[in-house]
Amino acid sequence: MKMLADGRSLSSVAAELGIARSTLRSWRDSGIEPVRRRPCFVCAGEPLPVPGAYAALLGYYLGDGYVSRQRSTYSLRVSCDAGYPGIVEDVGRLVAAVRGAGPVGHVRAPGCIVVVGYWSHWPCVFPQHGPGRKHERALTLTDWQREALRSHPADFLRGLFHSDGCRVANWTSHHVEGTTRIYEYARWQFVNHSEEIREWCTLALDVLGIPWRASNWKTISVSRRRGVEALDRLIGLKV
Ligand SMILES: [Zn+2]
Repeated sequence: MKMLADGRSLSSVAAELGIARSTLRSWRDSGIEPVRRRPCFVCAGEPLPVPGAYAALLGYYLGDGYVSRQRSTYSLRVSCDAGYPGIVEDVGRLVAAVRGAGPVGHVRAPGCIVVVGYWSHWPCVFPQHGPGRKHERALTLTDWQREALRSHPADFLRGLFHSDGCRVANWTSHHVEGTTRIYEYARWQFVNHSEEIREWCTLALDVLGIPWRASNWKTISVSRRRGVEALDRLIGLKV
């Protein structure tokens, strides 16, 4: 790369090092990431190797992620609120777990950190990939994705709620016998424009026996105390 940075042509560096010119060009344009050529479990016809990590990354992907073509490979980008470094770290760890070790990039934008991982198999592992926005097209889960969601619902919900969700704490006061008591009402909310993604959210909540309701057309709320406590314990607060 230094030779190219010094202004040498692709052809001359390729000839000197005995490396294909196309390989050099790919390294120059997208970085040296041999991990990209590792086959995925879908192509290999193998079972999902890390279902818990996959379920969580699927949740983050459906919440705030997108897959796009980058010359000879694909990138997965997950936008994270810059105020939650723990979530940025979680997503980076999950990208490495599902794809395999390799570089995980962080692109800073106002108020936001985009976690980026390159891999030519992202469209295999996230077949929801397609043109347009997720809520503007029909989405379906493959059988193995549904199985990952059912076997690891808490991981899936962590990805969903930590990307497109929030935990809201409201207070109210009651006057009882001359004294004022403060009560806290916490609730988790998941907001997504895709009917299918909201349905998968409620499916995972049902598997865990967590009560929920649709508080408006795009919002799933968990507001009963035992449900909120269960989510707090299973997915953790956003940090
Ligand atoms: Zn593949």
